[in-house]
Amino acid sequence: MYDVAIIGAGVIGSMVARELARYQLSVVVLEGAHDVAMGTTKANSAIVHAGFDAVVGTLKAKLNVAGSEAMEEVCRELGVKYQRNGSLVVAYRPQDMEKVRELYDRGQKNGVRGLEVIGQEELRKMEPAISEEAVGALYAPTGAIVCPYELNIASIGNAMDNGVELKVEYKVTSIEKKDDAYEISNGTEKVQARFVVNAAGMYADHVAAMVGDTSFSLYPRKGQYMLLDHDCVGSITHTLFNVPNELGKGILVSPTVDQNLLLGPTAENQEDREDMATTAEGLQMVQTNALKVVPSVNLRGVITAFAGLRAVGSTGDFILTSPMKGFWNAAGIESPGLSSAPAIAKYLVNGMAKQGLELVEKADFNPIRPALHDFSKMSIEEKNEMIRKNPLYGHIICRCESISEGEIVDAIRQNPPARDIDGVKRRTRAGMGRCQGGFCGPMVTEILAKEMQIPMEQVTKFGGGSYMNVGRTREEQSHEKD
Ligand SMILES: Cc1cc2nc3c(=O)[nH]c(=O)nc-3n(C[C@H](O)[C@H](O)[C@H](O)COP(=O)(O)OP(=O)(O)OC[C@H]3O[C@@H](n4cnc5c(N)ncnc54)[C@H](O)[C@@H]3O)c2cc1C
Repeated sequence: MYDVAIIGAGVIGSMVARELARYQLSVVVLEGAHDVAMGTTKANSAIVHAGFDAVVGTLKAKLNVAGSEAMEEVCRELGVKYQRNGSLVVAYRPQDMEKVRELYDRGQKNGVRGLEVIGQEELRKMEPAISEEAVGALYAPTGAIVCPYELNIASIGNAMDNGVELKVEYKVTSIEKKDDAYEISNGTEKVQARFVVNAAGMYADHVAAMVGDTSFSLYPRKGQYMLLDHDCVGSITHTLFNVPNELGKGILVSPTVDQNLLLGPTAENQEDREDMATTAEGLQMVQTNALKVVPSVNLRGVITAFAGLRAVGSTGDFILTSPMKGFWNAAGIESPGLSSAPAIAKYLVNGMAKQGLELVEKADFNPIRPALHDFSKMSIEEKNEMIRKNPLYGHIICRCESISEGEIVDAIRQNPPARDIDGVKRRTRAGMGRCQGGFCGPMVTEILAKEMQIPMEQVTKFGGGSYMNVGRTREEQSHEKD
């Protein structure tokens, strides 16, 4: 019997787990996928929104501003890359300045610090590469960028270091209320808990329906992106938004914390909750709109394209509800969900406390999770010292991002362990560069096989049947002929 079971190890479930790890509680996180950070959290704009966009008085507005205020400290504790680069909502027509002023007023009411409406001259000084057509902007100095999957992995990792249990490949298929507790099942293994947090992302409505809560529904809205190599960032330092419309914040141009340039997302409603394919039309729209913002963007520097799905809720706000005692929904967590995550976690833990969850602080809770060594950023003296201690740091595996074998082995051995090629990629950046794993993929496969003590044929890209080495070798084929 656990005190709390959390369904879903995206950024929300993981942040809730970390918040609960501060207290003397038994907590389990149940994740359906092969690894954490496999849902919406792995593919989004990575912006810590300042909080001027959400409608005044909504949970989105309150928790966005509180989350954004808390994020820098959370990232410092968790060793996650974060940069307060500031954002600009750019107007291209004089009439759009009215919307900019509206956002300014809304931001003031939401409690966002430091907002300013700026004119063309100042805008051009801040962002010299911006389109000549830009007439002014809303400047939000508290806007920031973060690495979303790092934040996800580090928060569940820190929770695990402080005693939280994680079960991956545990897809919840039924929940039954039994006296004062819930019995959760994946069809083969049962887990009992007094409190349940439903943080199942795109499937949170299905999980809520398992306890009879059909008060909301979700549908997917796809966002497609293009990611450009390091040398394409140029002089761009801020996140550049367009004036938003009813479908969202439009196509943005933004540097990432790893010094890539991100263009996107589109906003396309669809029915399929799994379809994350990019399309020629979607990427064309990203290109066209990004060029309107910064005409000099070098599209030859595109290294990959990807898409994510927003879990759009039927209520228009975050759905943080408790349909019955002990059961909490964290549903409809579309943008600004990443920005709000630290505040959503506190909100849910307070809600559970009001229903009787006892929060007795652990004396030995350690909020710190050091980042993996970033070998490429060390001085030559530091590198030599690292190699002297462990020669694996002297063996570069990913040439594009300069990632060593030592860093990959660390990622496989830490909490939560990398268990597949994409897991190594999200934790270390091996495979994130221009060749997208073309060179390092086979070596990462070999390291995973060695560390996990499994044959290379059993190593997968992202769990399930995504094996990297399938079929017969030429040698095997020629033996068969003999
Ligand atoms: C295109 C796009 C752009 C965005 N940009 C931003 C941005 O710039 N800033 C911002 O603040 N927010 C942004 N967001 C929103 C942000 O990404 C989300 O709010 C956040 O990632 C949601 O996290 P989550 O944990 O709720 O969901 P997920 O990350 O989807 O996690 C849910 C987890 O639940 C698991 N799961 C599902 N069903 C089950 C089950 N039955 N049993 C067990 N596990 C299950 C899934 O496998 C998954 O791991 C964006 C979203 C998109 C799609």
